[in-house]
Amino acid sequence: MHEPPVALAPADQRALIERLRAAVGAAQVLTEPAELEPALVDWRGFYRGSALAVVRPASTEEVAAVVRLCAAARVAIVPQGGNTGMCGAATPPAGGASIVLSLARMNRVLALDTSNDTITVQAGCVLADIQRRAAEAGRLFPLSLGAEGSCQIGGNLATNAGGVNVLRYGNTRELTLGLEVVLADGRVWGGLRALRKDNTGYDLKQLFIGSEGTLGVITGAVLRLFPLPRVAVTAFAAVPGPTAAIELLGRLRAALGSRVSAFELMQRYCLELVLAHIPGTRDPLATASPWYVLTTVDDAGTGSGLREALEAVLAEAMEAELVGDAVLAASDAQAAALWRIRESIPEAARNEGLLYRHDISVPAGDIPGFIDEGGRRLAAAYPGVRIVCFGHVGDGNLHYNCYVPGRRRDDPAALAATDVNELVYALVRERHGSISAEHGIGQAKLDELEQHKSAVEIELMRRVKQALDPLGIMNPGKVIRPAGPRPPAG
Ligand SMILES: Cc1cc2nc3c(=O)[nH]c(=O)nc-3n(C[C@H](O)[C@H](O)[C@H](O)COP(=O)(O)OP(=O)(O)OC[C@H]3O[C@@H](n4cnc5c(N)ncnc54)[C@H](O)[C@@H]3O)c2cc1C
Repeated sequence: MHEPPVALAPADQRALIERLRAAVGAAQVLTEPAELEPALVDWRGFYRGSALAVVRPASTEEVAAVVRLCAAARVAIVPQGGNTGMCGAATPPAGGASIVLSLARMNRVLALDTSNDTITVQAGCVLADIQRRAAEAGRLFPLSLGAEGSCQIGGNLATNAGGVNVLRYGNTRELTLGLEVVLADGRVWGGLRALRKDNTGYDLKQLFIGSEGTLGVITGAVLRLFPLPRVAVTAFAAVPGPTAAIELLGRLRAALGSRVSAFELMQRYCLELVLAHIPGTRDPLATASPWYVLTTVDDAGTGSGLREALEAVLAEAMEAELVGDAVLAASDAQAAALWRIRESIPEAARNEGLLYRHDISVPAGDIPGFIDEGGRRLAAAYPGVRIVCFGHVGDGNLHYNCYVPGRRRDDPAALAATDVNELVYALVRERHGSISAEHGIGQAKLDELEQHKSAVEIELMRRVKQALDPLGIMNPGKVIRPAGPRPPAG
C-alpha cells in the first residue's frame, strides 16, 4: 500500500543525479544548498524539508523522463509550482530522499482560440501571465487570487484554487476543460481536450485537479475563457456585521444578477493589520466600522447603468441600516488600491505573530452564526484572543484565523499545538462544513482529514492513490496517509 520510498545509498543518489542531468541538462538539476533553499521552505515559513535536487524540466517529455528515472530508483517526487501554497503541500519531507520537480520552465501559452474561448497552457505558466494573455485577446481568465503574480496554473490546478471570482465563475475545476498529466510510471495521459461536452465515461481530469501532486504531474491544461468585462465598478462598504453582509449580497444579486463577480468580507482588525504592515495602504473610509465588504460588479456589454444600479443598492442598504458608509472607486487605480487591501491581508497577518489559520466553509447563510459562535468559544477558551476573519463570504468560505495571547512563532510547542484548530474544526463539523475550503490538505491537515471524512471516503481515496501511484512516489506524506499505524509525532 503506497509506502513512502526509502533513502538511496550515496552512490545510488549520485547515479540518479547523473541520469537526471542527462535527461534535462546539467544546469537544470540544482544540488547546491543555496540553489535548493527557496524550494525547501513553504510560503508561510512553517514547513522545511530537504531534497536531493531541484529538477527543472522544459517539456512534457523531460518531465516523463524524470518521473521514469525516479520510479526506477523509488525516489519520491514533489511537484512544485510557485510555492505559494498554504499547507506545506509543495515542501519536500525532511530526510533529503526526494526530488523537487519545478515546472517553472514550462511557461508557454500553447494556443488561444477565441472561437472556442479556450487557452491551452503549460503547467508552469504564472497565473497573472495567463490573465494578461487572455485580456490581450479580449477575453477574461477569471481565476484571481492574491498570489497570482507568482503562483502557477499547475499549482492552481493541483490545489483546485478558488480566489475572489468563484462567486461568479467557479473554482479552477470549473474553469478546466482538459489536462495533460505525466503519470507516476512516466506515461503521459494526453487529455488536452477543448470540449465543453464530453460524456465518455469517467472524467479523469477531475481526479488530478485538487490532488496536490499526489497522483501525477500536471504538465498542461485547456482552460475556459469568458468575455472580458468592459466596465467594472468596485465598492468598499462598512457593514455592522456578517448578517448585514449576507443580506447586502442578496440585494446585490437580486438587482444585478451574475454581474456581481466578487464579494469579500473582512473584519476591522484585518484592515488594521494591512494599514500597519503594508506600505502605501490607507483606510478608505473616514470612520471605523467593525466589518467591511469589498465588492466588484462588472459587465462585458456597454455597462450602461451599472454604476447607478450599484449606487442604488447601496443607498437602499444604507436606509435599511445594512451599510454605514461606502466608497465607490472612481478609477481603475482606486479599485486596485481597494483590492490591494483585501489581497494583502495574508501578507500583513504573516508579519504579526503566530497565526492559527483555518480555511473553512459552511453554507453561506450559516456564516453569521459560525462567526458568532466561533468568537464566543475562542474568547472563552483563550481570553484576549484576536480573530483575523476575512474571506469569500458569498462562497461560504472564511479565512478564520487567530492569534492566541502568549503563543509565539519561536516556541515549538505553540507551533505544534492543535487545540485551537480542534475547537474551530469541531464547530465546522457541527455546521456540516469543510475544514479546507480552498487551500487543500497538504501536510498540514492530514490528521483532520481522517477525522472529518467517513471511513468509506478515506478508503476510496486510498484506493485511488494506490491505483494511480502504486509505488507511492508522488508527493508522499501529503493529502492521504497509507493505511496502518500513524508515524510518531514530531
Ligand atoms: C497571498 C496569498 C493569497 C492566496 N489566496 C488564495 C485564494 O484566494 N484562493 C486559493 O485557493 N488559494 C490562495 N492562496 C494559496 C495558493 O496561492 C494557491 O494554493 C495556489 O493555487 C498554489 O499555486 P502554486 O503554483 O504556488 O503551487 P505550489 O504551492 O507550488 O504547490 C501547491 C500544490 O500543488 C502541487 N503542484 C504544483 N504544481 C503542480 C503540477 N504541475 N502538477 C501536480 N502538482 C503540482 C504541489 O505539489 C503542491 O501539492 C494564496 C496564497 C498566498 C500566498
